[in-house]
Formats: sequence, C-alpha cells, structure tokens
Amino acid sequence: MKKEPFVTLKQLKEITKTYPTPFYLYDEKGIRENARALKEAFAWNPGYKEYFAVKATPNPYLIEILRDYGCGCDCSSMTELMLSDAIGVKGEDIMFSSNDTPAEEFAYADKLGAIINLDDFTHIDFLEKTIGHIPETISCRYNPGGVFQISNDIMDNPGDSKYGMTKEQLFDAYRILKKKGAKHFGLHAFLASNTVTNEYYPMLAKVLFEVAAELKEETGADIRFINLSGGIGIPYLPDQEANDIRAIGEGVRKVYEEVLVPAGMGDVAIYTELGRFMMGPYGCLVTKAIHEKHTHKEYIGCDACAVNLMRPAMYGAYHHITVMGKEEEPLDHVYDVTGSLCENNDKFAIDRKLPRIDKGDLLVIHDTGAHGFAMGYNYNGKLKSAELLLREDGSVQLIRRAETPKDYFATFDCFDILKELV
Ligand SMILES: *Cc1c(COP(=O)(O)O)cnc(C)c1O
Repeated sequence: MKKEPFVTLKQLKEITKTYPTPFYLYDEKGIRENARALKEAFAWNPGYKEYFAVKATPNPYLIEILRDYGCGCDCSSMTELMLSDAIGVKGEDIMFSSNDTPAEEFAYADKLGAIINLDDFTHIDFLEKTIGHIPETISCRYNPGGVFQISNDIMDNPGDSKYGMTKEQLFDAYRILKKKGAKHFGLHAFLASNTVTNEYYPMLAKVLFEVAAELKEETGADIRFINLSGGIGIPYLPDQEANDIRAIGEGVRKVYEEVLVPAGMGDVAIYTELGRFMMGPYGCLVTKAIHEKHTHKEYIGCDACAVNLMRPAMYGAYHHITVMGKEEEPLDHVYDVTGSLCENNDKFAIDRKLPRIDKGDLLVIHDTGAHGFAMGYNYNGKLKSAELLLREDGSVQLIRRAETPKDYFATFDCFDILKELV
C-alpha cells in the first residue's frame, strides 16, 4: 500500500508560516473514523469499552476526541492519572494498569475510583496496606510465560516479560482477594506488541476466556470484564497490510461464543487498552532538511532529532518518510536522514532510497501519532516541539506549545539564568 501523508504541501506551507518546524501534526478526521470503526467492531458486546493507553499520546485535546466514542483512560503513572482527572475522566472510566507501582499512585488511583489492575501477587498486601482496604472491583494481570506464537513470523515472549502473574499466582490472588472483600473481578493480559495480524486478539481472547472460565469454576469469582489490553499494531512499512478491526472484533466474538457463553459467562464485558492502533497512523512529525553532507555516506540533516522521535534510535524502528512535493520523483538517492544529537544513532532513516532532497524541503515522518512525542526526552538540551491538530474543517489548532529554554531550566530553582528568562 502506498503511504500518503494526511496533509498536503500547500497546507504545510501555510502552517509553517505560523508554526516553525519541527512539529507534530495530528489528523482529527483519521482519529475519529478509526475510533468509530473500533466501536462498531465490538458493538456486539454490550459492555465493551476502550481505555485509551494514555502513555501513547498523553495530550488532553486528543483524548477528548476519543471521549466522543465512549473511551476511557488506561493509566500507569501519577501524571497520567492527573491528566485523566483534569479532563473529567474519573471512576471506572480509568483503568490503572501499572507495574512496580509506588504506594502514592495506588492511593491516588483509589481516590479517583479507578479500576486497579494488579500486576503482581505481592501487590495485594501492598495495596491493602496502602489504601486500607481491597476495592470491590479489582483486576489481575496474567502472564502465561513461554512464547506466544501467533503465526510463523509473528511471536512475542511473555516468559521474558516483567509483567503479570503466573497462572498459579492468579488463582491464589482471586481466592485471597475474594476473602478480603473483592466482589467483582477483571482479567487482563498483554502478550504481544504491535501485532500486524487479525489473529492476535482472537488468540489472546481464547487464552484469557479459558482461564476466566476456570477461575470462575474454581474460585466462584464474579468475573465482570476481560481486558484484552493493547498490542494491535499498525503498518509502519509500505508493504504491510493494515489490520482489519472488523475482522478482529468478529474473531473475538467467535471465541466469546465458543468459550464464554457455554461457561455461563455471556454477560462479561470486553475491554481494550489500545494506544498505537488509536493514534499511530494519525500523527506525523514534520521536519525541514537544513543540511546536506557528503562524506563516506550521503547525509541529510533535519531540524528534528531523536528527542522528537526516539523509536528509530531506540528500536531501529522503521518510519516511512515522504519528501513533500517530490512524491512522484524517482527514488534515486540513498540517504541517512539525521538529527543533530551528538549520538550516532540519531538517524530517522539509514540507507533509505528517497528522491533528491534539497535544503528547505519539508519531510513528513509517518506513523508517529503514538509512542512518538510521548517518548521524547531532553538530551543535548534539545527542546520538545509543538503539537498541532489538523481539524476536520482544515483549520489548525495548537494543542501543545513548543518547549522554551525556560521550561528546560525550570527545575534549577536557584539558578541565575532563570531570572533572566522570566
Ligand atoms: C503500553 C500499554 C498499552 C498500549 O499498548 P499499544 O501497543 O500502544 O496498543 C496498553 N496497556 C498497557 C498496560 C500498556 O503498558
């Protein structure tokens, strides 16, 4: 499939008159269409709810768009909880799926009435000591261990991951939580990340539904929801085929009818905690080529760097690049596209075939709407960019301003430079 930006060169030229590059741009139309499709794909399940994984794109303006489709928030830190609270997402509209959780975060989640999803068996005691009781509704995270093989070429490794409880611990946890007063239960697992296949969710559902039926049978727990968590991927590569969310919803429905309905569990709600799937394709990083360098290789230097988008440096992740206005030109140059950090892994692309790039060209780096801006950091004292929203009517809204040196120096309380910057 050909990858095309959701914004035109003409629009970008207009936007850059007001907002200098680099910046993130999000596509309201795409976000809405996708959220609607997800809701429809799971409409067969009356209790269905998506808890958007706030860590993927922690911008309140974007999360408010998802609220129109009934989405809640999946949080795993203090500030993610605070952000949810600030936009009016409270109570059971918050899923607190954290791990290695500090006491004050459990306390705050409880204060907001969030559903707490326990990552570990020992957290039962820790939570009880922290908040003084066990909530009536509580969830546990399961990790079956081993390898989770979805197809010949798609697998992940739960046995190596730090999350969740073993099956034995899970059964003990349910029994103990019940004794301590829990009345309603949830079950959660996240077994593979960025799966570009319609098979992952149905396969995960089968694992969870079967365990849920056993849990009900053996512990008598009232299981209210099963949380399929995140992990539905997006096609970062041009030759990958996107997931079909209808087929995924249908696949989960089949397993639901095969496993849960016969177990007398036909009233269990399905929850999801998608991040990447909700926002990934609907955000891009816009940057300008500011240098070209010819040494042992051909380099294009842009005004964005790994501080703005860490995935290529961190995981060697592929992000497609469109050189705006040159979509039809031959890919007859091979470039490393770099940022300015004093780190040689600060490259958005290595040996990438692209059209000839000239200084001043605008580059769109695709599929950065999730785990993009959010993963940013401040190495080399580089500042984070602005985030902009391309509205459905074509207008552009600043939804987060760019950082300034004052933001960067703000934590040095006693430093003279701050006084000068005020
Ligand atoms: C990161 C995360 C998600 C979202 O993952 P995606 O790959 O973005 O869908 C959901 N749940 C939990 C607990 C997570 O840590």
